[in-house]
Amino acid sequence: MSSELNSEVTMDGNQGAAAAPAAVSSVELRGVTKRFGDFTAVDDLDLTLGQGEFFTLLGPSGCGKTTTLRMIAGFERPTSGEIAIDGEDVAALPPHKRPTNTVFQSYALFPHLSVEKNVGFGLKRKGVGKDEIAERVAAELQRVGLAREANRRPSQLSGGMQQRVALARALVNLPKVLLLDEPLGALDLKLRKGLQVELKRIQREVGITFVYVTHDQEEALTMSDRIAVMNRGHVEQVSVPEEVYDRPTTTFVAGFIGVSNLMPATVSAAGKVRLDGGPEVGADTADLANGERCAAVVRPEKLTVSMNGAGPEAGRPRVEGVVESSLYLGTATQIVVNLGGDVRMTVLVPNADEAERQRLPGGGAKVSLSWAPEHMHVVRESPNGNG
Ligand code: ATP
Repeated sequence: MSSELNSEVTMDGNQGAAAAPAAVSSVELRGVTKRFGDFTAVDDLDLTLGQGEFFTLLGPSGCGKTTTLRMIAGFERPTSGEIAIDGEDVAALPPHKRPTNTVFQSYALFPHLSVEKNVGFGLKRKGVGKDEIAERVAAELQRVGLAREANRRPSQLSGGMQQRVALARALVNLPKVLLLDEPLGALDLKLRKGLQVELKRIQREVGITFVYVTHDQEEALTMSDRIAVMNRGHVEQVSVPEEVYDRPTTTFVAGFIGVSNLMPATVSAAGKVRLDGGPEVGADTADLANGERCAAVVRPEKLTVSMNGAGPEAGRPRVEGVVESSLYLGTATQIVVNLGGDVRMTVLVPNADEAERQRLPGGGAKVSLSWAPEHMHVVRESPNGNG
């Protein structure tokens, strides 16, 4: 058994159980840095999580998500900075003394124990009475939909069921914060989707703060109250899902969330940007300086593609390009338009009308793309590179 698992299953969820005032944050990271040798995995991170929040750390492989989670759990020590849980500095506490539990991607269940015994293992080690264990284990198995599987061994369960056991085993300890490291990563897409909905329901029901690590942006958008998008050890944006999708603040966030539809541009005047090789367009440039390089983002479903010189309605910004590919996706057609150089824009046209679909431009067609001014959003160059 790994030391992590050992810490996980013996954790005392009631540690320091004095009720924290509501105003106290659930988890707070202040200036947290983690170096491995001369490599900085997490760089001067500040994060404040609210009580009962479903908070997601999202980013590509290697951006420092897991390291951040492991520091909250106590499996890694920060090189510098402070971590507090419910207002209490946890620096000196080993993992099993922290009011946290962790659910890993690998379920890490005991193969020789029944589902029931796996879930009750930590409580038994803490000396909780038999009847109370039975009651709490039954309630958690009910919660995760495994009441009828209580006497089975893990090997007799599907991957999704095994992860539910791992979840029940964590929840039964009543942690203040549940840490989840890509918990659905090993499951196939359909199962993952189902469990996403269920995890969210369970989180609402138990009201515990969830810190969730994933590189899957759709998963993050579906489940989270707030998302921290990480890039090379830095948090680039923390916000609610709608905001991260509709109003990304950097080229990295705009490219990582959804399809990367970025047109390089320069701020030409207050409230205006000039697209490279294209027109000057009105935009919100409040956070940008005159002459600053930036990028204009328009989401694929907000672009209109037209050909044969058929112009878009007056007043709509437009750019010219050549269709590189057109792909039938069932509910929509995805058209990639090359605007020149390396700039490619993806357009999503709903397949509402078959005759209309037949008229869509194919590969090599010269087209123009247009959009409503309010659907264009300007983002600054990412200070940490674009991944
Ligand atoms: P993934 O989804 O691939 O796990 P991640 O965002 O969770 O990515 P981390 O596991 O936090 O990334 O790793 C961040 C960086 O720190 C990576 O470059 C990784 O190689 C490095 N790193 C992590 N743990 C160690 C370690 N124990 N020793 C040396 N380098 C490490």
